[in-house]
Amino acid sequence: MKVSLNKRILDRNDECAQKNKLFFEQNSVLCVNVISSPGSGKTTMLSRTILALKDKLKIGVIEGDIKTDTDAEKIRSTGAAAVQIETQGACHLSAVQVHDALTQIEAMDKDVIFIENVGNLVCPSAFDLGENKRVVLLSVPEGDDKPIKYPGTFAGADVILINKMDLILYIPFDLDRVLNDIRKVNPDAKVFKISAITGDGMQQWYDWLCDMTA
Ligand code: MG
Ligand code: ZN
Repeated sequence: MKVSLNKRILDRNDECAQKNKLFFEQNSVLCVNVISSPGSGKTTMLSRTILALKDKLKIGVIEGDIKTDTDAEKIRSTGAAAVQIETQGACHLSAVQVHDALTQIEAMDKDVIFIENVGNLVCPSAFDLGENKRVVLLSVPEGDDKPIKYPGTFAGADVILINKMDLILYIPFDLDRVLNDIRKVNPDAKVFKISAITGDGMQQWYDWLCDMTA
């Protein structure tokens, strides 16, 4: 019973995800779904990216949080458009929620739409939002065991950003182990080591993004 209900929810989600995908295709919008734990630095990474690329790319952000619009406010302070979805308890965004936000954010006029998913390494990876690319952030303070504990999430990423590299001197974090474990579940993902706070390593991420929109 439970399985079939879950399957129905996922089927309905996938139907709407297909609509979103078509929308992005028809309007030449690159949509990037950003997934990570809470506190890994998604909003900071996005803010820095927007400021660095604002002369090159028109960027909009759809923010997913259980409560508050503080992340949308932070994004707006960079000058980019942001729409906040408050999920009221749900621990992931659905394709329908994204679909509704696309009109509000005038997505058809943008080059890139980032979706900052609800902070959670588990179920956001099961919900296709119709995005073109998926980015997973892992930050150093979360620990080096995350790729083996959440293999499905890391397996589905096109890009994996290892953030807060500026803290690696202070926190036990076996980078070789992480890179190895990522390779086991996802040999094709691009892996960039970054610090969204200092800006170190961000250029390779910007280059990837610009390549994808070229
Ligand atoms: Mg955030
Ligand atoms: Zn969820």
